[in-house]
Amino acid sequence: MFSKILVANRGEIALRIIRACKEIGIRTVAVYSQADADSLHVHLADEAVCIGAAPSSQSYLNIPAIISAAEITDVDAIHPGYGFLAENAHFAEICESCQIKFIGPGSQAIRAMGDKLAARETMRKAGIPIIAGTQEAVKDKEEALRIAKKIKYPVIIKATAGGGGRGMRVCHNDIRLVSALMTAQQEAEAAFGNANVYIEKYLEKPRHIEFQILADTHGHIVYLYDRDCTIQRRHQKLLEEAPSPILDWKMRKKMGETAVKAAKTVNYVNAGTIEFLLDTDGKFYFLEMNTRIQVEHGLTELITGIDIVKEQIRIAAGEKLSIKKQDKIPIKGHAIECRINAEDPANNFIPCPGKIERFIAPGGPGIRMDTHVYAGYTVPPYYDSMIAKLMVFGRNRGEAISIMQRALDEFVLEPVKTTIPLHKEILKNPLFRRAQVYTDFIQRLLGEWENKPAEGSILQALVR
Ligand code: ADP
Repeated sequence: MFSKILVANRGEIALRIIRACKEIGIRTVAVYSQADADSLHVHLADEAVCIGAAPSSQSYLNIPAIISAAEITDVDAIHPGYGFLAENAHFAEICESCQIKFIGPGSQAIRAMGDKLAARETMRKAGIPIIAGTQEAVKDKEEALRIAKKIKYPVIIKATAGGGGRGMRVCHNDIRLVSALMTAQQEAEAAFGNANVYIEKYLEKPRHIEFQILADTHGHIVYLYDRDCTIQRRHQKLLEEAPSPILDWKMRKKMGETAVKAAKTVNYVNAGTIEFLLDTDGKFYFLEMNTRIQVEHGLTELITGIDIVKEQIRIAAGEKLSIKKQDKIPIKGHAIECRINAEDPANNFIPCPGKIERFIAPGGPGIRMDTHVYAGYTVPPYYDSMIAKLMVFGRNRGEAISIMQRALDEFVLEPVKTTIPLHKEILKNPLFRRAQVYTDFIQRLLGEWENKPAEGSILQALVR
């Protein structure tokens, strides 16, 4: 087992990894930017190294600075968390060439799944269902129009190097397609340094259902069931639950086994997630694979009791999975996560960095809160706006919803604006409660509010 791990990340996920290391008995090194000197991960780690200025390009994405920190502190391994360098194959290769274990899959698997178009092709060859669309990057508008004619509108333009919902454009007609093609290419170039985009059929009423995979270097591979991430805003997850309320056991098994097959296709090792879109006719399609820990991994931990971060560390150290057989993976109850973002839902979700004056976290049975913020902490403007993950666990979905409602009511976080009021609205919505939702749910909810916010509703304030 490793004796010291460097955590190449910040925020709640850095804390999550440090906690797992402490429980296993591994020393930790935090790295931080000048804007994060007061961040909790810096205080909780055994050692901390400042790696640069506030912008991520100069700190959390600064490979030479991170590798130098790892060498100075003499660590055996690096955990990249999610975001930043977590899916950077080049970084994984550099770690390995410096004899530092990268806690994640091999660089080949990262590369194979990192390019969405290449991943689609790999999956298609393996017989895994993919959404109708192009096999190569779209060259020009004539080609785009030809493809749209073939697969029929609506279509979606996506960046091959995409992530975080950026570079995607939904098009319902030729005019929109031609104008969106150029902006999508420009956005992709700016965000990912790669202007390649492709086109696929846009499913109008899908659910986003993903499967957590664990694979070790001894040939064991299992799925830890599913998470339903259908509640999204602008293609970004906002509220997730596990297991999906709409899958029966037959379907769960079928999708889980397909996910395992997908992971095996790229000789996958460590924790990963296969994302699917499930259509209204019960057909499901491979969307992408995330070759890292996910934000919403805690939900799977709540329903299975398996600590995914510890498994990641043990797998990287060459150990076997703690549970090797699929039929021995436990599942119990229902878990929900609300992403608490420092954004103003009443003002087009504009990021709201600033000082948190009051912070009272909810507590009591069934609650797990993963956050790096506290009273007196200043949310810096440089990074992702997610400041807390509020997770709950109940014996069933109804109980989990009640616990979440109670938890959100208890939660005090002032004066920074957050997504808490929006989550309260989602949880009381009858369609959500009946699990009759698709990825357009939030958009519809916001539209309804704009037209007719209920008298006295929090949303009167939200849409103002
Ligand atoms: P990213 O990597 O940027 O997060 P994904 O490919 O994972 O992008 O897609 C994110 C979300 O965008 C999906 O969960 C879904 O809501 C929406 N989406 C992507 N592709 C399609 C599609 N072909 N049809 C309908 N919705 C889609």
